[in-house]
Amino acid sequence: MSAQTTYRVTFEPGEQIFAEGDGGDYAYIIQQGHVELSIHSNDDRVILATLSKGEIFGEMALVDSKPRTASASAMDRVELLGIHRDYVEQKLSQTDPLVACFVRVILERYRNTLSHSLPTPAPSPHALYLHDLDLTTHRVEVDVGLREALVSGYLVLFYQPIIDLNTRQLAGCEALLRWRHPERGLIMPANFIEIAEDTGLILPIGEWILSRACEDLIQFNHTRHHLHKDAHLPPLYMSVNLSGRQFEQPHLVDRIEEIVRSAGVSPRRIKLEVTESLLISNPAAAAEVLKGFKERGFSIAIDDFGTGYSSFSYLHRYPIDTLKIDRAFVSSMLDDKRSAKIVHALVSMASSLDMSVIAEGIERTEEMELLCQYGAHYGQGFLFSRPLSYEAFSASLHTPFLPDPPP
Ligand code: C2E
Ligand code: CA
Ligand code: CA
Repeated sequence: MSAQTTYRVTFEPGEQIFAEGDGGDYAYIIQQGHVELSIHSNDDRVILATLSKGEIFGEMALVDSKPRTASASAMDRVELLGIHRDYVEQKLSQTDPLVACFVRVILERYRNTLSHSLPTPAPSPHALYLHDLDLTTHRVEVDVGLREALVSGYLVLFYQPIIDLNTRQLAGCEALLRWRHPERGLIMPANFIEIAEDTGLILPIGEWILSRACEDLIQFNHTRHHLHKDAHLPPLYMSVNLSGRQFEQPHLVDRIEEIVRSAGVSPRRIKLEVTESLLISNPAAAAEVLKGFKERGFSIAIDDFGTGYSSFSYLHRYPIDTLKIDRAFVSSMLDDKRSAKIVHALVSMASSLDMSVIAEGIERTEEMELLCQYGAHYGQGFLFSRPLSYEAFSASLHTPFLPDPPP
């Protein structure tokens, strides 16, 4: 049989579709004709059912390729749609993990119930799906916990300074999400962002992040202005990460503009960070959305630049203001000449395209010096500061210029 995920097949009257004991990867939907299901019992053939148009049989093959527990034959001319297990698996993998798990468990229990009359008992569903179930349980726990955290104020933003490498002055900051769990302490986004994206919870969380970041930006700029009245410092900007899932939202641009404006912030002070993969997966839609953001005055940064597809061909198609060079290049720059050359080339390319560069993950003074030498404009990393709580970031504003890094 071909490995097609769905196919159409016909059988003549009396022809066998499959026999008890055959391996089976397909379930069937009857399009035309009648199908008889039967089993052998003590040398007799027992008819289980006669099925007609629209009915499904062989569906236990959707769980696994275990032997068929009954025979099926055509009573007249039969036309069938065959559906391979892979098709269902593929669809299940795209659906809500809890729903997928329910479907699997129900199918497996059904197989178990039916197979009680068989000499070899089927393995318990737990043996087959324990792994899935564990994973699913974890995802559901995180999902439920995050929903509670969002309404109970357990989600918090930390802010990491972004430094102008020429003046060594604070230019802005990036908002980074944390989950302040009452028992487990501070949970990093790597442990929950992906789940929030899968379940769609990133949509309300994303809106909360933006509005919180805007409110905090107003306070930071207010404090800074107050503390350094005579220094005429330019206002800080706020970088906010956008997830791919948010990009699928209809009216995203309007919604984001509304949140920012109703917080009293000009879109000019907001930099939206998007990843390369987001641009590549749906270039036409991404171009449209980014154009919308630009028209409203937002600035756009490509995050983790160089790690995704490393194809520069798309750069001219989008209204990009800033490239954020990924930490991987910066951290290997001193030990690996090729990384250093890549960083140098990226900085030159960005300049010639009128884009600014933020080098991410600067941890060592020598990295910063090399980046300055290459002409990188901005830097972010533990050398300057780790991400800080609202209070710690506010306190750091007392010194608008960074102290010299340790020798
Ligand atoms: P990202 O956007 O690339 O954020 C930068 C990450 O690098 C942050 O990790 C930051 O703490 C870390 N980092 C900064 N400087 C250094 C350094 O010098 N050395 C090292 N080793 N790490 C450094 P974090 O906060 O754990 O965030 C991880 C990722 O989670 C982010 O990567 C981003 O993809 C995602 N994320 C964080 N906050 C948000 C958010 O509010 N919304 C969305 N959609 N994603 C977020
Ligand atoms: Ca980022
Ligand atoms: Ca990044």
